[in-house]
Amino acid sequence: TELYGVNDWGVGYFSVSEDGKVIVTPNIDGKTIELPLLNVVSDIKDRGMDVPVLIRFEDLLEEQIGRLNNAFTTAIKASNYQGQYRGVFPIKVNQQCHVIEEIAEVGAKYGHGLEAGSKPELIIALAHLESQDACIVCNGYKDAEFIDLGLQACKMGYKCFFVIETPSELPIIIERSRKLGIKPMIGVRVKLASMVGGHWNATSGDRSIFGLSIAQLIEMVDTLKAEGMLDCLKLLHYHLGSQIPNIRDIRSGVLEACHVYNELVKEGAAMGYLDLGGGLAVDYDGSKSNYIHSKNYTLDEYCTDIVDVIISTLDPQGVEHPTIITESGRATIAYSSVLVFNVLDVAKFEPASPVDEVQEDEHELIHNLKESLDSVSLRNIQECYNDTVYYRDEIRELFKRGQISLRSRSLAENLFLQTMHRLVALADDAPRTMHEIEKLKEQLSDIYYCNFSLFQSLPDIWAIDQIFPISPIHRLNEFPDRNAMIADITCDCDGKIDRFSNMHETRKTLPLHDLKANEEYYIGVFLVGAYQETLGDLHNLFGDTNVVSVRVQKDGSYDFSDEIEGDSIADVLTYVEYQPQNLRERFRKIAERSVRQGFITGAERQSIMKTFSDSMMGYTYYEKD
Ligand code: PLP
Repeated sequence: TELYGVNDWGVGYFSVSEDGKVIVTPNIDGKTIELPLLNVVSDIKDRGMDVPVLIRFEDLLEEQIGRLNNAFTTAIKASNYQGQYRGVFPIKVNQQCHVIEEIAEVGAKYGHGLEAGSKPELIIALAHLESQDACIVCNGYKDAEFIDLGLQACKMGYKCFFVIETPSELPIIIERSRKLGIKPMIGVRVKLASMVGGHWNATSGDRSIFGLSIAQLIEMVDTLKAEGMLDCLKLLHYHLGSQIPNIRDIRSGVLEACHVYNELVKEGAAMGYLDLGGGLAVDYDGSKSNYIHSKNYTLDEYCTDIVDVIISTLDPQGVEHPTIITESGRATIAYSSVLVFNVLDVAKFEPASPVDEVQEDEHELIHNLKESLDSVSLRNIQECYNDTVYYRDEIRELFKRGQISLRSRSLAENLFLQTMHRLVALADDAPRTMHEIEKLKEQLSDIYYCNFSLFQSLPDIWAIDQIFPISPIHRLNEFPDRNAMIADITCDCDGKIDRFSNMHETRKTLPLHDLKANEEYYIGVFLVGAYQETLGDLHNLFGDTNVVSVRVQKDGSYDFSDEIEGDSIADVLTYVEYQPQNLRERFRKIAERSVRQGFITGAERQSIMKTFSDSMMGYTYYEKD
């Protein structure tokens, strides 16, 4: 357990059973259910779907929405806060229909709404939110069509806010609302001076792309005053960035925002809503620290701090407590999805066959290598390392000049690896380890070739060095005695995972188990529910994976409430404008020519065409028979 930190990043949603399996632990009506992930995978396979598969645990999403809302309600009650909490889920964080349907349904009892950053997202929001208690927050650039739709929604009783991101939006909102005779609910996004740490801090500070500067805000207030529309300005919004690791940054953001809010009230704006944007972080590495992939606060602390700062800033000014909105995406949805894939093959950097003896007539440098190997001891680790690297390089040079045979070179490579492994094993007992030997451990680590595409399923690892918790989903009661980096099955050298979380540090390899003959080895990448699905791309034409949603019952049984088959080869080909029928016809003509040329018979053509057509309908990932 400790090696993979499941209990740390699992926050009660994942744990490890005594027989070494990752257990999913949703809470159903107050009862914790223990569901071995491996059983779910095996049930999925029984139904004819294969790995890689993205598994969504609907109950975890439901529980997380509950945790977020309950934490705010508790903080509000404890501090006697006079306003309410009304969360909104930013659709961009996971737009999948099934996810939004679930959020809308579960969120209804909390008045949890949706945030839309584009016209398609607004359409999704309007078609899903039934509760009039819930808010729709419209961020992003808004044209007249977007605004008309939002205004009609207001007329229907929705609390649909237009958050002004740039000064040019205001005249369009004024014009459209006059034309349609509907009062808009206006929000304004401000650029706070408060900066945050972490990956996504470009959304905070003066140079942030979005939001109005304080000077532009004042101009906007003046325009609204002149138009007699200050009563429409109801919401103040800011977003400092996603995944804010440090609670101090969160506190300082709310503090600054509260002062702006207070000033807007003094200016005569209606106000009533304070929207803190996203930023509530996920502890991906379980270290509970202010490291970028973690967070140094709990959900309760986050809520309590926000409520306390608002009270302590607004009370002295006699300003009414606003409804608090947060746009938590990552923290709401990350936990609910797990990507599971199998290992296809392993490359080990070990001597193909250990060398016991070197023939008399071998090249002198090979004898030197063997002597170096035989002399390895705790005292001469560095010297042996230097000599061995030197002899191996010399032999490679000789080979390039044609002065040494392929067999001798192979002998040298084996001797080299033998020595390096011996050095690494000894170095564990050495009083201090040399930098080169430390690096050697990485260089000698295995490569586990796994059945997934990093670009399709985990794009943030490639794009921004995101870290996700990764662990085998079984055999955790066995010591993992291999060290490995993970390679996907795209033909791209960037398609690899060589950064793993290890509590307070990042390591380049992950301890894994040796493969067993005739037994699949499954690895899970956890907490992948946020952002990955739609950001993924079709690199090498690996398509969407299979997606299965799991709904657990109180008695521990479960069913697959939704199954979406991954893209077939024909699907991905059509995405890049090929017509499967045309491809088949082109291939048929080529096959027919081969018959004419006598390479194949007519009967063989039939079987070849069948293979071609069957492939077209198959999964884009590696399929075992
Ligand atoms: N709101 C806005 C305006 C955003 O840009 C984002 C994403 O960066 C979010 C909310 C969601 O943030 P998070 O996923 O950190 O909760």
